[in-house]
Amino acid sequence: MIRLLLVLMLALNSLQAMAAGAPDGLSVKLDRASHEIDISRHLAFYEDPTSNLNIYQIKRRWPEIGSTAIPPKAYNFGFTDSTYWFHTRVENVSSPNDRWVIEGLYPIIDEMELFVVRATGPIERQIAGDSVPFHRRAKDHHNINFDLTLRQGESVDLYFRVKTSGAIQMRTKLWSLDSFSHADHQERFVLGLFYGLLVAMLIFSFLIFLSIRDTNYLWYSGYILNYGILQSSLNGLSFEHLWPDSPWWNNRAVAVLIASGMFFVLGFSRSFLALKTNAPILNRTFLAMMGVFALAAVAPMVSPSYAPVIRFNSFFAVLAATLVMFAGGVCLYRNFRPARFFMLAWTALLSGMLLYLFKTFGVLPANVVTEYAIQIGSAFEVILLSIALADRLRHMTQETQRIQSEMNTALESRVAERTAELESANRQLEMLSSTDGLTGVFNRRYFDKHLRKELVRCRRRGSLALILLDVDHFKAFNDNLGHQAGDSCLRKLADKLTNLVRRETDIVCRYGGEEFAIVLPYTDAAGAIQVANQIREGVESDLWFEWEGEPRSVTVSIGVAVVGSGLAVEPDEVVSVADEALYTSKAEGRNRVTARDVSGRSASPAAVKPPLAAE
Ligand code: GH3
Ligand code: MG
Ligand code: MG
Repeated sequence: MIRLLLVLMLALNSLQAMAAGAPDGLSVKLDRASHEIDISRHLAFYEDPTSNLNIYQIKRRWPEIGSTAIPPKAYNFGFTDSTYWFHTRVENVSSPNDRWVIEGLYPIIDEMELFVVRATGPIERQIAGDSVPFHRRAKDHHNINFDLTLRQGESVDLYFRVKTSGAIQMRTKLWSLDSFSHADHQERFVLGLFYGLLVAMLIFSFLIFLSIRDTNYLWYSGYILNYGILQSSLNGLSFEHLWPDSPWWNNRAVAVLIASGMFFVLGFSRSFLALKTNAPILNRTFLAMMGVFALAAVAPMVSPSYAPVIRFNSFFAVLAATLVMFAGGVCLYRNFRPARFFMLAWTALLSGMLLYLFKTFGVLPANVVTEYAIQIGSAFEVILLSIALADRLRHMTQETQRIQSEMNTALESRVAERTAELESANRQLEMLSSTDGLTGVFNRRYFDKHLRKELVRCRRRGSLALILLDVDHFKAFNDNLGHQAGDSCLRKLADKLTNLVRRETDIVCRYGGEEFAIVLPYTDAAGAIQVANQIREGVESDLWFEWEGEPRSVTVSIGVAVVGSGLAVEPDEVVSVADEALYTSKAEGRNRVTARDVSGRSASPAAVKPPLAAE
């Protein structure tokens, strides 16, 4: 962003220079009102591509070689390998001040020498620049500066020799010492606020990173740290405070910091915008550019020639900055909500840069806001980015909660599904566990439970009958026709019984072996005997089989127990009464029905007389 600004500034300054037209006259005259004079526009120049000339040669030959007018490109000469010489004549006409300061406003110039040539005496020489040890400056100030003593009535020739591996900019001011101190004082306050904010945000976001381990905050911390040092290197504060004795490093710092800064900007943006999922192609482009910048950060320190490196880095930085804005726009377009604050933040920085450019261009007046527009813009940027981070965190948390609740719902419905499946399986199991495997009617286990339940119910509501039924001579049947035929006979018998017993409340159970039990709730003796006889007759007439070549019918003997209404009886008692009745039927010749009530008496002796079956 900073390099973008510088490049734009270069372009706009040329425009400004063209707009400004002719210089204001090459010499500078100081009067009582002179406190702060921009002498850039009074400087004639000479480009020495050989870089071989010394001050004596320059001074002697200046009338022929020096430009007679300020060129349209004014104090911006772009990237150059030549040495530039500048000259102006300063005359103190009527100012009572005799102590003056010359300030170079572009502090990253490698070397700037000032030669003061007076009417008499030796040539005075001072040197400053970002590759000259800091203590050699006239004043401990972040900008290049020189002392100048100039009494009323005196005049001097000033020659500047400028050599740098970056761009040459000659924005130069002449101050009275008092005004310089005053302006410096004010500026330090604003810069203090600005860097204070950066440091606070740096510590704050790094602590947040430590506590929540969101790498976005680490990238952001890295970016602020890098940006802060880059910014302070650009305005010369790093050299003054961080590495005053390392001109070698200072001269390379800006190029290194631009590259590492762009590395952090890309890393932060990539992570913040979640490019991996939001824009995979941009993600790969970012990664590639980060690789380039990682190399570019090292290059200034190892490359024998610095100039191409700073040019390359500056060019790539502009490209990357454009890419970051583009990526933000793409994510915004794809409805990635956190991109809103992200774009707002970068827009704030750009606006600050534009304001500063407009001031420089003369479109906007110079005041505190426009003068420090870059600082203000980047302060807003840093704050907005931290809001963006918080907003993103909230967005992500909400997203996680949404996904969680969706998963919960899905889980609940699956649990319900499974429960239903389990319930149906349970019912099936219950059915299986209450069913007889061979015949499909209820089994003994179910019979026991059911009879107990029905007895309780019928005690209040009416009588109950139990039919016990045993196949006659079944052992012989088995012995003759085989066990399998026996089984199939039992299945047929069970089907027959189920068909004959029609009432919904009646149930047929296999009591064991070839014995079946039928529970008939709300049935009195007469009804039960009727059912029993129907069964006996039905079996005899329908269940036929071949025995020793002759057709024979299967017969059953039946015992009926009847429990009268209102009687409290145990199931065992009912079964044993029915069993006794069955025994009686067997004893009396088989294929007949005997009924008894639970008191043990015959319920209806007349009814129990079966029609005699043929034996
Ligand atoms: P009765 O009852 O008329 O006195 O004579 P029975 O031959 O039926 O005598 P008993 O009740 O003692 O014999 C029961 C026979 O039923 C014994 C066994 O061979 C047969 N049986 C019992 N359960 C099954 C079964 O599940 N399948 C087959 N095929 N036979 C069975
Ligand atoms: Mg038996
Ligand atoms: Mg039998």
